[in-house]
Amino acid sequence: MVYPGGVTALARVSLDVAAGELVAIVGPSGSGKSTLLNIIGTLDRPTSGSVHIAGQDVATLGDRQLSALRAQEIGFVFQQFHLADGLSAVDNVSTGLLYAGVPRRQRREHAMRALARVGLAHRTEHRPQQLSGGEKQRVAIARALANRPSLVLADEPTGALDTATGQSVLRLLRRLNEEGTTIVLITHDRDIAAALPRRIEIRDGRLISDDAPAAHTVVADR
Ligand code: ADP
Repeated sequence: MVYPGGVTALARVSLDVAAGELVAIVGPSGSGKSTLLNIIGTLDRPTSGSVHIAGQDVATLGDRQLSALRAQEIGFVFQQFHLADGLSAVDNVSTGLLYAGVPRRQRREHAMRALARVGLAHRTEHRPQQLSGGEKQRVAIARALANRPSLVLADEPTGALDTATGQSVLRLLRRLNEEGTTIVLITHDRDIAAALPRRIEIRDGRLISDDAPAAHTVVADR
């Protein structure tokens, strides 16, 4: 991946994530982790190479088809939550479903269910400023989950939280993974990374290690 201006943020990274995996991407700041996550999530198109999601080469899709694929298959979680301040928790979650084409009545129903799944059934009408950091991240996770995506991508989901709150958000992500959601997350936290079943390490835009289970073929350099 070469950014305008000439920065090569990723090179020769080949990676296969199977349904049901829970993967940590680790590496120093500036190593290309967010770029990789954005490419997996189809938010950025790679300058060379290809991305397949659910068997589909995303380069063959137009912008509208790509937005639809993203809305249906992928949920995003960010370090700084990215919630709308003026909206209640349930409205923050249901707004995300607009783009997935869910009819209005069902949006609220799906949103309530997603909030219950993350343990926030008692906070649905609270606005972000009335919630703790951990609760905000749970709302953001509910938003990512509301349309039951097959893949959740999380960029430093515990990075803005204290250790105990971060651990509880991590426990939530692990539970969601056990319930079937494939999760790829970026973390700076060594303890978190060490506790996850698969770690991919990126340095200077290269994939330098991957302790993938033997079933997955990963070529770091070719
Ligand atoms: P990380 O997430 O590991 O901190 P990033 O993927 O954000 O790393 O960045 C990798 C490299 O690409 C860095 O050198 C960064 O400065 C550069 N970069 C990231 N985004 C852009 C962009 N939009 N335009 C130009 N360069 C970028």
